[in-house]
Amino acid sequence: MDFFDKIGKKASQTYEKTSKLAKEAKLKMAINEKKSQIEDVYEEIGKKVYEHHISDKSVDIDIEAILEEYCIRIDELCDRIEDERKELLTLKDKKQCPNCFYEIDLDFKYCPNCGTEQKEIIVQENTTDNQNLESN
Ligand SMILES: [Zn+2]
Repeated sequence: MDFFDKIGKKASQTYEKTSKLAKEAKLKMAINEKKSQIEDVYEEIGKKVYEHHISDKSVDIDIEAILEEYCIRIDELCDRIEDERKELLTLKDKKQCPNCFYEIDLDFKYCPNCGTEQKEIIVQENTTDNQNLESN
């Protein structure tokens, strides 16, 4: 029985790891998809601006309102990317430097990239024990 217990445990650990990786891959894909959607919107904006430029100006088109709509769409996509990126960081047990956006381990006190002190530690459900590393 013990043997099978071990196998079961190992299998569930492997499953956990795989599902984590799968989740990570899925998030990355979703982010990339939105990035390319943003590129498409940029292109649309460019087209609209040019179309407006060559169009008959006597027809009253509110180009700014049209462009605003596109910009809002980009805002929304960016917000969703931001959410997914945060989710991705949590999944990888990382945080992001607020200064240079470098991905760093949760317990780092200073950013290894730019040296900014990491004051705010995002506490997840599995709280990492806050050992005071005061030794200089
Ligand atoms: Zn940094």
